[in-house]
Amino acid sequence: MTELFRCSAEELARRVRSGSLSAREVVAAHLRRTEAVEPRIHAYLWLDPEGALRRADELDRRLAAGEDPGPLAGVPVAIKDNLALADAPMTCASRILEGYTAPNHAAAVERLLDAGAVVLGKTNLDELGMGSSCEYSAYGPTHNPWALERSPGGSSGGSAAAVAAGSVPLALGSDTGGSVRQPAAWCGLVGLKPTYGRVSRWGLVAFASSLDQVGPLGRCVRDVALALEVMAGPDDRDARSETPSSTTGSAGEDFLRGLEDGIDGRRFGVIRELPLSQGTAGQGSASTPGEPLDPQGEKIWRHNLAQLEALGAEVVDVSVPAVNAALAIYHVLANSEASSNLARFDGVRYGGRRPESREAGGGQGESLEELYLRSRSEGLGREVQRRILLGTFALSAGYREAYYERAQRVAALLRQQMEAALEMVDFLVSPTTATAPFPLGSRTDEPLAMYLADRFTCPASLAGLPAVAVPAGSDDAGLPRSLHLVGRRFGEAELLSAARAFETQVGWEVRPALADAA
Ligand code: GLN
Repeated sequence: MTELFRCSAEELARRVRSGSLSAREVVAAHLRRTEAVEPRIHAYLWLDPEGALRRADELDRRLAAGEDPGPLAGVPVAIKDNLALADAPMTCASRILEGYTAPNHAAAVERLLDAGAVVLGKTNLDELGMGSSCEYSAYGPTHNPWALERSPGGSSGGSAAAVAAGSVPLALGSDTGGSVRQPAAWCGLVGLKPTYGRVSRWGLVAFASSLDQVGPLGRCVRDVALALEVMAGPDDRDARSETPSSTTGSAGEDFLRGLEDGIDGRRFGVIRELPLSQGTAGQGSASTPGEPLDPQGEKIWRHNLAQLEALGAEVVDVSVPAVNAALAIYHVLANSEASSNLARFDGVRYGGRRPESREAGGGQGESLEELYLRSRSEGLGREVQRRILLGTFALSAGYREAYYERAQRVAALLRQQMEAALEMVDFLVSPTTATAPFPLGSRTDEPLAMYLADRFTCPASLAGLPAVAVPAGSDDAGLPRSLHLVGRRFGEAELLSAARAFETQVGWEVRPALADAA
């Protein structure tokens, strides 16, 4: 019999609901697996084995009484530590929130729980969601389960590593410019950033409010579709949450129904301006420096296009001239919003207060300004401070017009161009990242090189479009590679069915890494 930690979320829930397996057995098996892998990967900032077992027992009692807990009955999940879980600590991997306990559940978490999921713990991230490698966590990096000396990606690196290592079949992340998709890519997983507004952000610690979305990570497309189905839908507590006009009622859409429909006759657009072959910087790419695909990446990418064609799809060129400005615009807009969102972490409203030490006078005579400064300087890491400074600069008098407003105009142009392209084709397609996961420590001193990890993912964020990373095979070093698909606004059902068809064609096994830790 397959060990339980290898099973999909869908299968686990099915067996728990049918009574052939208890929630306790499922949770206990995943806790054992977590114990075996966690010392090597450090995916979690907080683990709650007792709470998880208590919850499993409660579900088993409800099942015994004839109740159906829902489509995620007994499924162990992990939650990125910038999403609130009531009565659990939430630090966002920042010193400034050390000791903070969340008063309620984030909307997305609440929906998973209402569907019968069991939370095992809160996962590591780049501090406050800012980073691409999980190395900007104040509590140490997470390791990639496929290659322990490498980064799992970021910022949702802990969630990705937990799923890849078999600690849980499903985890939540948040994605502002690529933070679900890029770690999914580097950990050989499926990661979805839903359409902006599809999933409520209520209870997510804001990074850049106009871009933030909560998204699921899983080992297969079906599990990700299942999680989306549970989480999607309007929520009065998020002013930007929306329902597509084509669906009615709060029950939302059935993302599993058309999942196996295939992609025969679908059109996939490759953005001509992206630097997708070696030695080309991408046409008209003067505004973004950066590496083209590495040779292995290019080979796999070419093969992926042939795989799409083998499924009956048509691959065509499309033009999105603003695409190479995306990374620059993203950093102006995201940092501007972050500088404003993070103003609340001042040691008074939120965040640990760091008064002057007693020896130095015990904080007496320290002005409020000095208190803020000390709390923020000591509580926030270097990358977060860098972003606050850049964002404050971009919003400051005299520069606002030149940076922030201009970036907004180019973002609007990019959105228009992407939507126009999506009238010619069903999906936009690219690799998810230009490179395989890099070794831990290799980019921490080079912020610009680090930022490039999001160059293929951030356009969809700026356009508010749904996008998914799907395993695309592995390179000669055994490292996972990934394909990135962007769909139409609220087109997750079609997007996921395309991802599912591709997944089947690639034949990437739904298997956890770290086989020797079983
Ligand atoms: N890696 C990107 C950044 O550093 C995106 C982060 C995210 O999506 N939260 O901003």
